[in-house]
Amino acid sequence: MSEIRWLDEVEKRKEDILKDLDGLLRIESVLDESTAGEKAPFGQKIAEALEYMMQLGEKDGFLTKNVDGYAGHIEYGEGEELIGLISHIDVVPAGEGWTSPPYEPEVRGGKLYARGAIDDKGPTMAAYYALKIVKELGLPLSKRVRLIIGTDEESKWRDMKAYFAREEMPTMGFSPDADFPIIASEKGLLDILLTGNGQEQPVDGDYWTLAEFKSGQRVNMVPDQAVVKLAGEGDVFELKEKVQDFLLTHRIQGYAEENNDGVSIVIQGQSHHGSEPHKGLNAALEMARLLGRVPLDPSGRNFVDMLNDLLVDGYFGEGLGIAQEEEVLGKLTVNAGVVEHVHNGRQSLRINVRYPLGGDAESILQTITDKMSAYGFTIDNVDHKPLHHVERNHPLIQTLAKVYEDQTGEKAEILAIGGGTFARALKTGVAFGPLFPGSEETAHQRDEHILLEDLWRSTAIYAQAIYELAR
Ligand SMILES: [Zn+2]
Repeated sequence: MSEIRWLDEVEKRKEDILKDLDGLLRIESVLDESTAGEKAPFGQKIAEALEYMMQLGEKDGFLTKNVDGYAGHIEYGEGEELIGLISHIDVVPAGEGWTSPPYEPEVRGGKLYARGAIDDKGPTMAAYYALKIVKELGLPLSKRVRLIIGTDEESKWRDMKAYFAREEMPTMGFSPDADFPIIASEKGLLDILLTGNGQEQPVDGDYWTLAEFKSGQRVNMVPDQAVVKLAGEGDVFELKEKVQDFLLTHRIQGYAEENNDGVSIVIQGQSHHGSEPHKGLNAALEMARLLGRVPLDPSGRNFVDMLNDLLVDGYFGEGLGIAQEEEVLGKLTVNAGVVEHVHNGRQSLRINVRYPLGGDAESILQTITDKMSAYGFTIDNVDHKPLHHVERNHPLIQTLAKVYEDQTGEKAEILAIGGGTFARALKTGVAFGPLFPGSEETAHQRDEHILLEDLWRSTAIYAQAIYELAR
């Protein structure tokens, strides 16, 4: 067979790709359980977007299946083995401040702007046209290829749970929902909710009562603000001086303010993604460091001691006794994402632990349980996403690397990350595009867009990848 010019095949279909993508981008497919119904578990709009893809597949003569609105697939090829491409058509809410309306796609300066343009409707259409090109070229395949389209990636991945409970797991595949070249390893994730027993033993003494300590909203983000309310009759002047001194020596922004019930302290940190907790400034932990110098009531003291002993300066699990590291994925990380203490009320802590290869979730949880029990805290709930890793010499990686290098002329670096891509939904899967090195990352932001050049290039890469994996 003569050499196939993949990019030329994409060129011939540019207008069709844009037209079909335009229709998909116009559907406001944000999770909306208030409109959930039969075959629409995540709302009518998401169901509509999924059905849009199914009808496209049917019109073009593919085998399609909508699995009760949870997910659907578009299939081509023949054979025992199944190759999977996994993407999603749900999007996060648009938010404010767009230059052009988020659900009215617009091309400006070689970029296509719309919510979902790069995450993940653009890539879904790229993968679809890749499969269509392989089909229209009549290339013989010895395997089946399925484009599996999810609907709950931005929320809880309930789509994949439901889909794979009923449908076959591909032998291998990739997800066009992250970065090029290839992401082959992702840390194991543990979101852990801990709660305290909140017992209060009244003790005499000169101290402030830690009436309230609140910081953080999401477990996978470094909290950028902490607010504390201290009640009691302590020396306000001395306390304010301590706070000032702390802020100055640590070069941290914040303030203390006297009010009717006592004193409020606010500390300003710096937010960052929870996979790199050491790169932000955790306002909750800095607050704990400060409160370590303030005389507090017993329950408040216990809470602050717990934070200081186990989490302050413990971004790599040192304090919790779970530190570990290896060459591929690096160090285990711990992010204290949500901190809450209410006097005689709720005491809780949500932490996000990301462990590298060789990490064992059960023993990590056991160590945390032991450490926390000394402070009266117990694990209430755990959300676990296991490690995801495909060996470098696996045929999947070898093939995708070759395709990427063929088409871009660049070396296909194999990446390892702390985050969680949709490739995890596959047993043996990697993330493969669509964001090229050096292109601007705009997923989840206002003015989300994809470079048209990148859209064409990724479509061509996916087409060749499908052919090489399934030939
Ligand atoms: Zn996505």
